[in-house]
Amino acid sequence: MSQTLQGIWLDGSVDPHFHGRNSIAEGDGRLEIILPLAAVEHESIVLIGNTNPPLLTATEASQYISEAYRHLPGGVFPRLYAAPLLTDRTTPTMIYEMRQCRRVAFIKGFLSGVSNDGGHNVSNVRALQATLIACHDNAIDAPPLPVHWHMERKFDAHGSVIEMREREWYAIENDLALVLEIDPEGSHTVKHVSDARTIDRLRCYREKGFTVYAEIASHYLVRCHEDLYEGQGGGTAFNAHDLCWPIYKSRASQLALTRAALTGAAEGWAFFGSDCACHKNDPTRESDSKITQRGVVCGGTAILPAVSKSIVIDLFVRNGEALSLDAFLSGNARRAMGLPPADTNALYVREERTIPESLNRKGVHIRPFMAGETYHWVRKE
Ligand SMILES: [Zn+2]
Repeated sequence: MSQTLQGIWLDGSVDPHFHGRNSIAEGDGRLEIILPLAAVEHESIVLIGNTNPPLLTATEASQYISEAYRHLPGGVFPRLYAAPLLTDRTTPTMIYEMRQCRRVAFIKGFLSGVSNDGGHNVSNVRALQATLIACHDNAIDAPPLPVHWHMERKFDAHGSVIEMREREWYAIENDLALVLEIDPEGSHTVKHVSDARTIDRLRCYREKGFTVYAEIASHYLVRCHEDLYEGQGGGTAFNAHDLCWPIYKSRASQLALTRAALTGAAEGWAFFGSDCACHKNDPTRESDSKITQRGVVCGGTAILPAVSKSIVIDLFVRNGEALSLDAFLSGNARRAMGLPPADTNALYVREERTIPESLNRKGVHIRPFMAGETYHWVRKE
C-alpha cells in the first residue's frame, strides 16, 4: 500500500457481512440492485443466509451463490461466498458438508427473538455443543468453519424482555460466555459490535487465549442513539432509514468503537463488515418493506457499499492510521475466515460525492443510509 496526499492504494477488500437478499425472479429484486454495487468495491463478499428461503445447508448456499454470480456486471470478478444460518436444527453432519464447500465462509448464528432471521435461529446455545465443536474438530480433513454471531438477546433467562440498549451486553455476558465455555477452541466473531463494553470483554477473552474477533460496521462509527431522533433543521424526528439492530448506543460507545477499529485493526482482532441490509421503500406493503402500511419500521440500513468503505477510509486517514486500512478492510477478515490473501488492489481518491436520495430499478425503490449527505473517498481504478 502506498499513500499520496489525495489518493491511496488499498488491497482488494473483504465484506464479510452483506445481505444480498433475493432476485426479481424470486419475487424480490434487491439482489440485482445492491450486489453489483458491492462487486465493484470488494474483492470478496460473504452473502448472509437469511434469504427467502433461508440458506441452511451447504447445497443451498452453493446454489444461492451460483444464482448471485449471474447478477454481476461485466468486467468485475469478486469472489462470492455464503454464510448459512446456524439453527437449533444444525447437525455436525451439516457442518462437515459446509466445511467441504468452498463457497461457505462461515456460519451465522442469530440468537432467537432479535432480528430478521425468519425464525431460523438459536434458542439453546448449550444444546449446540456438538455442532459447534464439529466446526473445527479433525473428524474430517477440511478447513475449520468460523462462527459469526448476531450477539443480542431479547429475553433474559427468566423470560423477561431485556431493555433495548442492554440486549447486546446481556448476550455477551451470558451467551458468548457460554459459547466459549462449551467450545473454547472455536473461532467466534461478534458481528456489528455496538457497545463499548463488548470491546472490553473481547479484549479480555483474547488475553486469555480465545479466538474471538470484533466486526465493526461503518454506520456505528458515524451514528449514536441520539442521532436517530435528529430532525431536519435542528428539530426532532425519527430517522427510520438509519434504524438498525443492534440499536446504536451512546456517543461514548461510538467513540470507543472508532478507537477499537483503529487499534483492533493493527492488533489483528477487528475488521470491517458493512451489514448492508436494505429493505424496499414501499409504504403500501403489509410486510417486507422499511415502513409498512401499518407504520411498522424494520431494522437494517441500506448503507451503500461505496459509502461504508469511504467512512472507514476517512476515519483511518484522519487519524493518521492509513497504514492499518489493509488490515481492517482485508487482511484481518481473511485470516479470521481462512480466505486467500488479496490478489488485487484498488486506488481510492479524495473526492466529494453525494449519496443518492433513492435507488430505483424495475419498481424496486431503496432509500440509502445518509441519503443526500456526502462521502469523501471514491474508487478510481
Ligand atoms: Zn446483518
